[in-house]
Amino acid sequence: QEPTLAEKLKTSYELHQEAAKVIPGGVTANIKYFTPHPIVMEEGHGSRLYDADGNEYIDYLMCYGALMTGHGHPEVFAAVTEQMYSKGTTIFGTPHRLETLMAKKLVSLYRGIEQVRFCNSGMEATMLATRLAAAYTGKKKLAKFEGHYHGGYDQVLLSVNPAEALAGESEEPLTVPESTGVSDYCVENTIILPFNNYPAAEKILRKHAAELSAVIMEPIQGGFIPAEQQFMEKLRRLTEELDILLIFDEVKTGFRVALGGAQEIYGVTPDLTTLGKVLGGGFPVGALGGKREIMEHCSPGASKDILTAGDDNGNKREAFFHSGTYNGHPTTLAAGLATIKLLETHDNMMQVFQKTAYLKQELEKLYYSYGVPMQAMGEGSIFNIVITDKNITNLREMNCSNTALRKKIDYELLDLGIYSKPLNRYSVSTAHSEADIENTLRAHEQALQRVMK
Ligand code: PMP
Repeated sequence: QEPTLAEKLKTSYELHQEAAKVIPGGVTANIKYFTPHPIVMEEGHGSRLYDADGNEYIDYLMCYGALMTGHGHPEVFAAVTEQMYSKGTTIFGTPHRLETLMAKKLVSLYRGIEQVRFCNSGMEATMLATRLAAAYTGKKKLAKFEGHYHGGYDQVLLSVNPAEALAGESEEPLTVPESTGVSDYCVENTIILPFNNYPAAEKILRKHAAELSAVIMEPIQGGFIPAEQQFMEKLRRLTEELDILLIFDEVKTGFRVALGGAQEIYGVTPDLTTLGKVLGGGFPVGALGGKREIMEHCSPGASKDILTAGDDNGNKREAFFHSGTYNGHPTTLAAGLATIKLLETHDNMMQVFQKTAYLKQELEKLYYSYGVPMQAMGEGSIFNIVITDKNITNLREMNCSNTALRKKIDYELLDLGIYSKPLNRYSVSTAHSEADIENTLRAHEQALQRVMK
């Protein structure tokens, strides 16, 4: 008799119990938790993860999309070890050459980036972006879209996935905190916009324009719900007209939907762009880039001028502050540069996109053959498995999909050696082989057989 999933995960269970004594919930990020208990991983190689019980998985979590070349790619590993061992230290706390190399690379790849600052996470990047927008425009409110995630700080931890009862009208969503303890100031000063509904979004933006510093958005929400082209173009024109900055949060989409991010696909230039994940080649990273005129506010020289001379009205402003002990970490940048180099080599990106497109297409066919209407929605190397025959253009529509069935399938997939945390998106990497893709399809077929019987 085959062991059950619970039996196969006995060590994981025990390790999680042990962890939960000293770490709340046994996880260092709430998102890592799922019931009955998260799986404790021990090793990652290429496309594979190995858990504490020795079970092997084809990994589609890829650390929430951060790993575009799989686990421990030899060239990324070589760049990291060269930096750490040959250069004699891990971090200098001073400027160094890799910062300029990476900055130039981002300027060349991203149409919205003329200058860039580094930090240590996607959340830091969006935090810096929204503060810089407030500093630059002198306006204090922020607009974000319902359902869009920009990290876990107060100003944006709002209406990411609000309970239906709290969310308000779809044309005029309410500002709903996603956590207890979020400050009232942020709730009061963040306006929520409906995604892919231009007339409704325009009405709200015009009403609050005088107070709005910026609109922050994921151009492709979660990497799988795209802004409609027309919506994006109109939003760009409107924000320009109203003197509101447009921030593209490309932490998820950067390097994953195109080397130059979603802005390359849309042909739209945001004022500010945030990056993270793939940029760090597996190490903690964030970056804020944007138009020179705005980014220059971060410069200590520029801040000093404002301090001493004041603005056009003679008002002396505080200098704009951006700092961080680990900003521009050499190990991170070495890993990131090696990763980007790999993605730029031959047709590596194209191959990942082709494998992803094939997997999506075959999965859709498979699910349909079992009577399950499924859309493998996504762009480039990311996709989500959405069980519905309805058109999905925003979070509210997404929430009407059949997540209960999806969850059942996901647990069977864990048993069958496919790892994407239940209900999570799939991220494909250069490390996923054709055999991996075929095995994944076979596992889905088995999962469907078990669930639909
Ligand atoms: N923005 C987006 C679009 C993201 O997907 C994420 C992470 N999932 C973040 C910001 C936050 O990045 P980090 O987890 O590195 O703080």
